[in-house]
Amino acid sequence: MIIFDHVSKTYPRTTRPALDDVSLEVERGEFVFVVGQSGSGKSTLLRLVLREDVPTSGRILVAGRNVARLPDRKVPRLRREIGTVFQDFRLLPGKTVYANVAFALQVIGTSRSTIRQTVPETLAMVGLEGKEKRLPHELSGGEQQRVAIARAVVNKPAILLADEPTGNLDPATSADIVALLERINRRGTTVVMATHDHEIVNSYRKRVVELQTGVLQRDVAGGSYEVTG
Ligand code: ADP
Ligand code: ADP
Repeated sequence: MIIFDHVSKTYPRTTRPALDDVSLEVERGEFVFVVGQSGSGKSTLLRLVLREDVPTSGRILVAGRNVARLPDRKVPRLRREIGTVFQDFRLLPGKTVYANVAFALQVIGTSRSTIRQTVPETLAMVGLEGKEKRLPHELSGGEQQRVAIARAVVNKPAILLADEPTGNLDPATSADIVALLERINRRGTTVVMATHDHEIVNSYRKRVVELQTGVLQRDVAGGSYEVTG
């Protein structure tokens, strides 16, 4: 589903690569934790999958497309296949829970009848039934992240990318959010979650891809994330 083939990324006006000769393959249906300290390259990796940036060298395939070479006009279609979730939720503050999720379908031209069917189903799936009319600021952090996850998956993307999705949440709420991502994964969505939360990674024993200053340090199934110097 995602292939990185000797991918390096050096940002303009920097000396050290943010990603340094990274090769990895994520199969359809996998759940992968991408771990590493702040600045290790996790966000860069996710941004390259989304074609928010292009690699300096190497090849990236996402859902069969060579994303570095994808013409700009084909980028929207790529992104439709990838849901995204961030640490800071990024909800539309003036829109209700329902409208935030419905908006993701409206912008891709989904019919009103499909929207009216799909949005309530998705809100129920993430555990937000009864909250449809709330505004984001009326919700707890965990609830806001559930709205963001509902919005990310409402059009049934093949891939869900989550960049530090629990970074603003307490441990119990974080565990609920990861459990939700795991449930979404079991329904067939490939999930890649960047995190530096040792406790979460160690309690799930999923595949762990560890970056250290841009270098892929470790890639292990059922792995842990040890605190190292
Ligand atoms: P992480 O997500 O693990 O914190 P990032 O991918 O954000 O790591 O950053 C990796 C490295 O690339 C860091 O050294 C960071 O300072 C650098 N970097 C990230 N984005 C940019 C940018 N737009 N321009 C220059 N350097 C960047
Ligand atoms: P938590 O205890 O998880 O931090 P909150 O105390 O923020 O959660 O919210 C508890 C419940 O009250 C949530 O379901 C939230 O939707 C609702 N709520 C919080 N603030 C408001 C508000 N200003 N107006 C309406 N509902 C609210």
